[in-house]
Amino acid sequence: MQSYWRNFIDGEWGDGGAGRAEIVNPGTGERLAEQAMADAADVDRAVRAALRVHESGALIDMRPVERGRMVQSMGRFLTEHEEDIAHVLCLEQGKPLWEARREIAGAARYFEYYGNQAETLEGRSIPLGAGYVDFTQSEPYGVSAQIIPWNFPVEIAARSLAAGLATGNACVVKTSELTPLSSAWLAEAAVAAGFPAGAVNIFCGWGHEAGAALAGHGEARQIVFTGSVATGIKVAEAAARHIAPCVLELGGKSAAIVHEDADLDAFERDIRWGIYFNAGQICSAMSRVIVHEARHEELVERAAQVARSLSVGPGIDRDTPGLTMGAMASDTQRDRAAGMVSDAERQGARLVTGGRKMNIPGAFLEPTVLSQVTPDMSIAQEEVFGPVLSVMSFRDEAEAVRIANGTEYGLVAGVFTRDLNRASRAAQKLRAGQVFVNEWFAGGVETPFGGYGKSGYGREKGREALWNYVQTKNIAMAVR
Ligand code: NAD
Repeated sequence: MQSYWRNFIDGEWGDGGAGRAEIVNPGTGERLAEQAMADAADVDRAVRAALRVHESGALIDMRPVERGRMVQSMGRFLTEHEEDIAHVLCLEQGKPLWEARREIAGAARYFEYYGNQAETLEGRSIPLGAGYVDFTQSEPYGVSAQIIPWNFPVEIAARSLAAGLATGNACVVKTSELTPLSSAWLAEAAVAAGFPAGAVNIFCGWGHEAGAALAGHGEARQIVFTGSVATGIKVAEAAARHIAPCVLELGGKSAAIVHEDADLDAFERDIRWGIYFNAGQICSAMSRVIVHEARHEELVERAAQVARSLSVGPGIDRDTPGLTMGAMASDTQRDRAAGMVSDAERQGARLVTGGRKMNIPGAFLEPTVLSQVTPDMSIAQEEVFGPVLSVMSFRDEAEAVRIANGTEYGLVAGVFTRDLNRASRAAQKLRAGQVFVNEWFAGGVETPFGGYGKSGYGREKGREALWNYVQTKNIAMAVR
């Protein structure tokens, strides 16, 4: 493992004005490497480099298919280096090695998908009667500023970067101070694809310093933020001061409604993926299950079995896909989640299994199931961002939807039933940007993703995401 990792600004790898940060392996608690930390001057340099590239026309003058091919080739670069990137990602983030490989494959898929979309953005012609020709075109904002969290550092950076570049924006990416290392390959991929210096800038820095400087930079003309609600508010406020549009992908407290006719054998798989994949550190995690009272005991028992079946330990030892779970991203995250479980117990929830930090080095929390959770408890309202499932029960359909919709969030939701009418009614009433029927996480890079309420606004993934990165220009020509 390289001991010191630099930032990539204006085509060069360099130190950061804010010194270095220690990156810790959450799977062991040991120091992994040092990362250069950008200060406000570095951020300014990156934004100006991106603006220079935009104004040069290097990205917007080329035929979109060519730009699309370059974006696609970044994905191929990641695939070629999948093993190296996955290794570093696993060590810095804590996830099992096989999950890290999946993340790199997912990141590559974004470049493939958005590379393919580059030449599909078309305007329309608007009839204005005799004497006029009128048409619209989509133009990139120019500089897309992207602030990335630590849970899927490569995949989330890839999704914003791929859409930003495909639409012709130069991009400035600030990585998370917990997981900056694996993003280095995104910069290498941009170089290998032939993007000019300044088209892709990737650096790490402290959120309150480099993150705030980026969100507040007057030339950051469009901002994509993925992270917590508290930080999202700060980013939106900073962006508002220079009237930059934002995409905010924030947290969630997403619920699955499980009816009495649901296939619980199949649902065990949804529990495994929905709340224990990436140790539950997924904004769209299935953190609440609202089950019909007739199946409550059975579901709680099955959930506990899934939780107990997971082999938990350092991700680097978990090489092949299976029933495994790695560390959480940091001790702070783990202690916060464990504290929320204790609070839930104090408020009357029953700890069915797990809930305690494990007695081994590293940021490990036992896979956890809580039952007898009621909608007023903080565990039912606040995002844990960890491997903690809260089970609640309902009597009738209306109550189930009311409980599911009863938080400030609205990222995703699910309904599990063999009755298509019931599923359709719920899908219409659930307040969420995405509804899964009979399979949690159904969908892919092709399907739009984003939140209602405090889960944010704007959409990432799918065709919808492209509209965040472009603005419409109307050209009206008087023809005499
Ligand atoms: P965070 O908000 O603490 O940090 C996210 C990023 O913002 C980091 O890069 C951080 O350095 C930066 N940042 C911090 N303060 C800043 C400031 N004042 N100005 C600008 N940038 C600043 O979030 P996190 O702890 O890294 O991630 C966990 C949260 O992210 C969870 O709440 C989770 O739900 C959410 N999340 C959402 C999605 C989604 O797509 N909706 C995906 C992943 C994570």
